[in-house]
Amino acid sequence: MIKNDAIHSLVKKYNENKMSHIFLIETNDKKQALKDLLEFIKVLNCENEYEENCVQCNLCHLITQNTLPSLKIIYPDGQNIRKEQMEELKTTFSSQPYFSKYNVYVINDAEKFNASSANTMLKFIEEPEKNIVGFLITNNKENVINTIKSRCEMVKAYYSENQMEMDPRIYDLALQYLKHIEIEKEKSILYNQDLLNEKLEKEDFLVFFKYLLSIFLNLLDQKDLPEDLIQLKDRESSEILRKIQLITEIIEKLNYNVNMNVLLDDFVLRMEAL
Ligand SMILES: [Zn+2]
Repeated sequence: MIKNDAIHSLVKKYNENKMSHIFLIETNDKKQALKDLLEFIKVLNCENEYEENCVQCNLCHLITQNTLPSLKIIYPDGQNIRKEQMEELKTTFSSQPYFSKYNVYVINDAEKFNASSANTMLKFIEEPEKNIVGFLITNNKENVINTIKSRCEMVKAYYSENQMEMDPRIYDLALQYLKHIEIEKEKSILYNQDLLNEKLEKEDFLVFFKYLLSIFLNLLDQKDLPEDLIQLKDRESSEILRKIQLITEIIEKLNYNVNMNVLLDDFVLRMEAL
């Protein structure tokens, strides 16, 4: 099922023959957006009239398995999307798809083009072969190189908190972190270093703080708390509100290029004081 309305509306476009050949998807949940896109890519290629969870046809099955030759899902190679990756894509898609209707590519973390891969990409999209459809995914379109962005049709695919795919590893870290800084209240600065150096990638921090936020929102609504945090139940709601405010402020700051070290230390010190 396609959860996101904006991605779902691409089906209508496709049915009305109004498809672009390249889309830029801006989303707050890249994993879920990719899932939804794969469902849409089934719509594009299905041998039958696509229905939810098509199990009839081989193509949909291959898309689920990520083994369809005419579907390329690309992730940055290290820090960047590399020129070689774009050249390989161009070569692969220089021939018409054999089994399916379209050659389709998805580029994750589209903000990670560098100048030379962007250049190759531009040549690729400026001479579009027939039947190629591309999707770029990013969590902030402002960080995508302009020359590429300007050639894309924009799709804003935002998910509400309860639609978002839970990342159990990060959620668990969020629980443990709160236990340290809110209940045990010691060595908080050390735990910060732990998170920074071993546990979380820079882009995980947004998800991490959103989990902290959702835990405090649940606390405010007097919903059930995870076992480890049960002691938080006694906190005054005014304190909870101040902490919600602080976490929200941190989440906003994460959209900018901040020094995580400073941000985290500032965070625990202010949490303790509230
Ligand atoms: Zn199918």
